[in-house]
Amino acid sequence: MNQNWHSILIRHMLILVTLCLLAGLVSGYYGWCLAVGLGLYLGWTLKQLLRLHHWLNKHQPDEAPPDGYGLWGDVFDSIYHLQRRDQRVRGRLQAVIDRVQESTAALRDAVIMLDSDGNLEWWNRAAETLLGLKTPQDSGQPVTNLVRHPRFKEYFEAENYAEPLEIPSPINDRLRVQMLITRYGNNEHLMLVRDVTRIHQLEQMRKDFIANVSHELRTPLTVISGYLETLLDNVDEVNPRWARALQQMQQQGGRMQTLLNDLLLLAKLEATDYPSDNQPVAVCALLQSIKSDAQALSGSRNQRITLEADDSIRLKGSESELRSAFSNLVFNAVKYTPAEGNIHIRWWGDGKMAYMSVQDSGIGIDAKHLPRLTERFYRVDSSRASATGGTGLGLAIAKHVLLRHRGHLEVSSVPGQGSTFTCVFAAQQLVMQATGNGSLRATP
Ligand code: ADP
Repeated sequence: MNQNWHSILIRHMLILVTLCLLAGLVSGYYGWCLAVGLGLYLGWTLKQLLRLHHWLNKHQPDEAPPDGYGLWGDVFDSIYHLQRRDQRVRGRLQAVIDRVQESTAALRDAVIMLDSDGNLEWWNRAAETLLGLKTPQDSGQPVTNLVRHPRFKEYFEAENYAEPLEIPSPINDRLRVQMLITRYGNNEHLMLVRDVTRIHQLEQMRKDFIANVSHELRTPLTVISGYLETLLDNVDEVNPRWARALQQMQQQGGRMQTLLNDLLLLAKLEATDYPSDNQPVAVCALLQSIKSDAQALSGSRNQRITLEADDSIRLKGSESELRSAFSNLVFNAVKYTPAEGNIHIRWWGDGKMAYMSVQDSGIGIDAKHLPRLTERFYRVDSSRASATGGTGLGLAIAKHVLLRHRGHLEVSSVPGQGSTFTCVFAAQQLVMQATGNGSLRATP
């Protein structure tokens, strides 16, 4: 095999030419003898080439190569050994693939591989039970055609997979699945789908419990508040010493009522994905009315509240929900900004998204609190919150309302200097309106 074919070939050619010349010497036809000799050699070489071609195209997997002489025999053997080595490597690879497939098939979670365009490439058995994928018909289909939930389509197309998505299974409404997408390689996607029905049921029980308790507490609280009001109205007839106690009871009763209302509103917001109302809301007018309420709340603290809004941008959704979210942000700014401070409300668009921001020159929030700010009952400083009479649910409500309007909340703050809460809304939620009065500039 390791022979020096270069010198052997030269030697063979020399022998051939010498034999041809000898034949020419004998016959006297040098030229013809040389031509016939080289022609025969060429013919033999072509024949070997054809045998090689035939063997490469027609041979069975383990069929030995044809016998060959000289260099051709060596070429046949080398190709044969290369093929055997290739088969062994392929066998080993196949064994690895089989093991990976066996282990992923045994997984209870679905594993789905998608190409860079989101078309299905491969999935395990759990993907068939959780999402109803069919082998092999669904191969190459866009995943958004098979998982048709609108939230999934948005989640997939937004390409922001930092948080998992939870939706009902496309084949069974009672099954709840959580999806997590990771990008790998050449922008391909790996999708993991988990059955979270049990966790969802527990979560649902918790929500129902809170909603039911809040609802049940409402009636007794209304009765107590009613009697307190009557007693306070006639406190002089009852006993004037009770006046202060009754006033405090009424104040705390009021706080409890606000808390119950907020809890019920949250439960309502969590019950569905999107608001039933989907009319274009005139955000400019809505903010003007919230600004008036904020001015009343500010009262003697005399904060300077300004509004700048683009009236040509309307937001599709529920006006009452948006009012709750926006007023929570604006009233927080009033509550957490000292007297004579500045509060600036803005509503504007940049051609792609629309933004509603509330900027204040208040006490600000330390950066470590920002990630947890929208959690229920999360308070930066509990003594500060009880002084302002907040329920600790305002930002949780705002976050939920924004989510239902394809938006999200961004918060930036510098302690001691102020905070900016910005609601960002996606283009599909906006309606551009040609208005006569145009945009509303900063109004004190
Ligand atoms: P609360 O009803 O207590 O105001 P929220 O959910 O509205 O509850 O707000 C959560 C916490 O975030 C508040 O307790 C407060 O400490 C902080 N916070 C909210 N808005 C502001 C703001 N504009 N400036 C400073 N702190 C704020």
